[in-house]
This record gives sequence, C-alpha cells and structure tokens, in this order.
Amino acid sequence: MSESHILLLPKEEYFKWVKACQRFVLAFGVTITPNPAKAGTKKNVTIANSPDGFNNIDVVKWLNDRFPNIVIDNIEINNPEELKQILEERVLTKKRYGDMPVVVDPTELEIALYWPTDYPIITQAFGVNPQNYAMWGLPGHEGLDFRAPWNTNIYACSDGEVFYVETRPDEHPYGKHIRIQHENGFRTVYAHLQAVLVDFGQDVVAKQLIGKADSTGNSTGSHLHLTLKKEGATARRETAFGGDVVDPTPYLVFPND
Ligand SMILES: [Zn+2]
Repeated sequence: MSESHILLLPKEEYFKWVKACQRFVLAFGVTITPNPAKAGTKKNVTIANSPDGFNNIDVVKWLNDRFPNIVIDNIEINNPEELKQILEERVLTKKRYGDMPVVVDPTELEIALYWPTDYPIITQAFGVNPQNYAMWGLPGHEGLDFRAPWNTNIYACSDGEVFYVETRPDEHPYGKHIRIQHENGFRTVYAHLQAVLVDFGQDVVAKQLIGKADSTGNSTGSHLHLTLKKEGATARRETAFGGDVVDPTPYLVFPND
C-alpha cells in the first residue's frame, strides 16, 4: 500500500521539510518528493502546503487539473514545525491519511478483501469492546461485523479454497460458517450464516456468492462476522490475538472502488 501514497513537500529548504516528516515516513513507509508531477502519479497524495511553497501556484488545483483520479490530503501549514506536529499526531493516532478517504489499489495488497455483503456498512470494528470478549480469552472483537440482514448474500472476499464448512447452527460460536484458504497464508472465516452454499474442497473466486446471512451461533442479530487469519502472525507478534487473527481493515476494498 505504501506505493500508492506519496508526501509532496516544498522545494524551498527541502531538507528542513524532510526532517519534519521523518517519523511519519518511517512509521508508514511513505515516499516523499518535492516534484508535484511525480506526486501526481500516485493515488494518494499528502501535500505539505505552505504559502509560496510551490512557486505561488495553487498546487491542489494544479494536481486536480492534471490528475483527476488522485485523492489529495492537503495539509496547510506555515513552516516545518507545524507540519511535524500534525504528522507526529498522525503517527500516534495511526491515522496515516488524516481523515481523507483512501483509494486502495487491490493489486498492491498482500491480499485484497473484496466487500463480502451488499451493504457498505461496518457495524463493529476490529479489536473493540474488550469487555465483551474477555470471556472468550480475546483482547477484543476478533474480526469485522458487516451489515447483512437475514438471508442476504454473502460473498467470498478473495480467491481461494473452502477448507471447512459448518452447516449445523449450534455447534460452534460462529454458528453455520465457512472457512476459505487464500494465497500468502491468509484464511477468512464467514460466521453466523443462514445457508452455506459451497462445499468442502471447493475453489471459489473473489465476490462469488458463498452463503446467506443470519444470526446463528453466538450472535444477537443478523450480520456477517468476518475473521482474517495470517499464518504465523501470532508467533511473529504481528498481532495481539492468538490463532493468527489479524485486522482485516487494511486489506478491505470498499465496494465503490
Ligand atoms: Zn463479530
């Protein structure tokens, strides 16, 4: 994902600006440039926009005119010190893009997770509500919940092979559910289903209909619970969760992308 994000800095006193964004660049692996034309070749452009930083041209307009498909994250600041403060705040809050909507290029992700329901709404984020999950030995919600009214479609997030299906509604906290093995050691779990429409061993492709939504198992209303696992993630301490559970959010491709 780092390849789709670039930080555009004023050319004047360039290295003062570079120094100001050092922690941000190290934390997120962002490329930097003083060249607006180069910045325009990336999908997400964060601009350190200081008065007369870009030869008195309106650099946002300049970029928008030439590169209409990029997303611009315009930070208006007067000096490197102000930039430093804003970027370090983003490092602390893990908000790389501030509040801008991010364009994710699926081909740049280790795994792209296409949206698994027909409703572009997440009803419970990853890692939240630790008090509800302590009884299961979990540090928080171990996946993402998506809006999915009863009997609505559930789709595979990515190409893979079905390696487990549970068709009994009451035998597992996940209820009726499907597990798919993907490339690069990733696995997805689709929980609380009403119907399982694939078989053990079946190959599926991203966006393929695999089930119907419900509230089977440990659930209090119809929705889709999606868990993502990455082989070895727990042992490598890439996650606070056991069982190789990782946050699916960075891999999600929003439905309008
Ligand atoms: Zn859930």
